[in-house]
Amino acid sequence: MIETVEGTFDVLPARFVKPNRVYQQIERWHLVESAAREAFRRYGIEEIRTPIIEKLELFERGVGTETDVNKEMFTFETREGSERIALRPESTASVVRAYIQNGLFNHTGLTKLYYIGAQFRHERPQKGRYRQFAQLGVEIIGQSDSPAIEAEVFEMLTWFFKELGISDTQLLLNSVGDEKCRPNFIAKLKESLKDKLPHLCGNCHRRYETNPLRVLDCKVESCQPYLNQLPRLTDMLCEECDAHFKELCAMLDERAIAYRITPRLVRGLDYYTKTAFEIVGGGKLGSQNTIVGGGRYDGLSEILGGPPTKGFGFASGIERILISLPDDSVARAKESPALFIAYLGDAARKHSFALARRLREEGVSVVVDLEGRKLKKALALADNLGANYALIIGDNEIQSQSYTLRDMQKSAQKTCSEAEIIAILKKD
Ligand SMILES: [Zn+2]
Ligand SMILES: [Zn+2]
Repeated sequence: MIETVEGTFDVLPARFVKPNRVYQQIERWHLVESAAREAFRRYGIEEIRTPIIEKLELFERGVGTETDVNKEMFTFETREGSERIALRPESTASVVRAYIQNGLFNHTGLTKLYYIGAQFRHERPQKGRYRQFAQLGVEIIGQSDSPAIEAEVFEMLTWFFKELGISDTQLLLNSVGDEKCRPNFIAKLKESLKDKLPHLCGNCHRRYETNPLRVLDCKVESCQPYLNQLPRLTDMLCEECDAHFKELCAMLDERAIAYRITPRLVRGLDYYTKTAFEIVGGGKLGSQNTIVGGGRYDGLSEILGGPPTKGFGFASGIERILISLPDDSVARAKESPALFIAYLGDAARKHSFALARRLREEGVSVVVDLEGRKLKKALALADNLGANYALIIGDNEIQSQSYTLRDMQKSAQKTCSEAEIIAILKKD
């Protein structure tokens, strides 16, 4: 038997999935995707679809070569050997590339785009990490860097998680400064790290050399007392970054959106400026509990060869949202057929197919037994599919043009005309 590649999985109707594999339940995916599309629609954010493969150079420039994301990319050469290709490890660089390539900067106002799709990283398989994983995200690109952009996105995310019934989230907020104030901070940081280095982990040592800001991000327990003594970015921001951060906090207060300023929060990618944030989820996620991550990336367009442009966005791991959903989510997203039709005999079979077609034209979801089962087995199948109602059609029903509609949950039944059946099923 050939199985899925390591770090990937199938998504199926929940009745085929082990109850603890909630990320494999298609009903949960539909719930999250439709809540996301509804949130984006309400906030005037439009969909973009970019290719899954891009030139490797896009991510080398856009993500930076000294980042974890870059080291985990799936790459290959085209057969002609003329081009180096990467499976996208994230989508921000792709969206900004599309923004530049399609000349969206020529249009008035902010470009507000969202995506939902698969991303690929060659991670060591472990709990909650997949080599193909899905993200939904938003990128707001244009000439303005008003903190009103951030505030509106946080408001939207608040609605989105409330809609899904995920209540135990927390918004962690920081500013990582910009090219004016960050070099200064990094110099101070390295200075302060020097005497602490002997106490820090291997990862901290490596990052001290390659990407000192990310030392702040270390999660190793024994590093924490030392890292908590390091200088804080928010104490060293230039006037512009400081004003932006304060204005954003004031806007969140105005909207009654709770947040926690988290001085050691930095993002994994090089291109972030000013606002950096994460939303962490509650108990269901365990230690990998970041459910949304994002920030401002005012320099990215220029790095990718576009005009000077400002941007703010986030990405959210869909699998982690799925795990965070309330336990009754599959029941809420129930997608089983409204009606199952079983029949007795050849005339009833023809009658059933015609009736099913008319009901479907009215918008009702109908499953007819296609395999000619005996009645008892047909009803067992209806039960298995979770059908709300079942109809049994025989010669009597054809003659009288009235049917016995069984409510499968209540095991009650009722005599109905076709019009009455339509009225009942459409109401459900
Ligand atoms: Zn460390
Ligand atoms: Zn600054």
